[in-house]
Amino acid sequence: MHDVIIAGAGPAGLCSAIYAARAGLKTLVFEKQFSGGQAAISPEIDNYPGFERVSGFELSAAMDKHARGLGAEIVNEDILEVSVGEGNRYVRTDKGSYPVKSIILAMGARRRELGLEGEKRLAGRGVSYCATCDGGFFRGRDVCIVGGGNTALEDAIYLANICDTVYLIHRRDEFRGFAGLAEAVRKNGKIRLVLDSVVSEINGAERVESVTVKNVKDGAQSEINVSACFIAVGMIPNTELVQGKIPLDEAGYVLAGEDTKTGVPGVFAAGDLRKKPMYQIVTACADGAVAAREAGFYCGK
Ligand code: NAP
Repeated sequence: MHDVIIAGAGPAGLCSAIYAARAGLKTLVFEKQFSGGQAAISPEIDNYPGFERVSGFELSAAMDKHARGLGAEIVNEDILEVSVGEGNRYVRTDKGSYPVKSIILAMGARRRELGLEGEKRLAGRGVSYCATCDGGFFRGRDVCIVGGGNTALEDAIYLANICDTVYLIHRRDEFRGFAGLAEAVRKNGKIRLVLDSVVSEINGAERVESVTVKNVKDGAQSEINVSACFIAVGMIPNTELVQGKIPLDEAGYVLAGEDTKTGVPGVFAAGDLRKKPMYQIVTACADGAVAAREAGFYCGK
């Protein structure tokens, strides 16, 4: 039996794996897609200690290699069920069922959708939730990005390097993201700010052709011609598998403190699915380290 199963191989999961394996715990990591999670698709990371500038892909690959090198087993399996009960603890995937002593939940979070008709219909045909993945398809074209957090600000700068005009559409006139990033956006000649505004529809027959924008202050509607609409309006924690099994807040974040304890002994929460004040790669890694230590204590190691 494994000492610990880590659900998810983003920075929190990989750092848990590094600490757990290094502490001699028999460690198994399940990841349904690719190592790195959200970080893996970050174009450029410039606030992870030791790296002035690194791509998310590169950093994720290094973390994955590090964890494997220390003996953690990382496998591509999709988790279908997490049984958290002491005495009946297991993780069931699309390939099998794995009994385990402790579990570290590190499934992260996914991008929120706007909920528009055109958003669903034109997904993959100009509607995108990942500027790094899809920005290159719109080289030299006009595009828009929706949101006012760090993701939207970073993505706007990234897109401005590739595209022609980038319309940054945000529902307020102040940004939620870092002041320095907001300043860089304001100074960027290729980014046009469309503030106090929401996208009320994404239009196009076969591909995105325009977005309808509504000013929230005076109700005025306008149409902006764009070839792509990138959406970066926040995250939803991936906690559906543990709903009703451990305490979550109303938005679905796991209610666990800095010790990562979920309220169910032997089950820990690390990274973006935990309710906390700052969602960063470095804080996800910190959670991972703490969770691995707590899992070790729980397993008596
Ligand atoms: P976020 O910080 O939650 O920002 C979401 C943005 O979308 C907000 O500006 C919000 O507006 C807007 N929004 C939410 N729902 C909307 C809707 N239905 N329609 C229109 N706009 C909507 O999300 P994020 O930018 O994805 O970042 C997630 C976390 O990762 C944050 O903690 C962030 O700091 C972190 N992150 C950090 C970095 C970095 O350190 N370099 C990079 C990327 C992300 P309001 O502001 O009006 O609420």
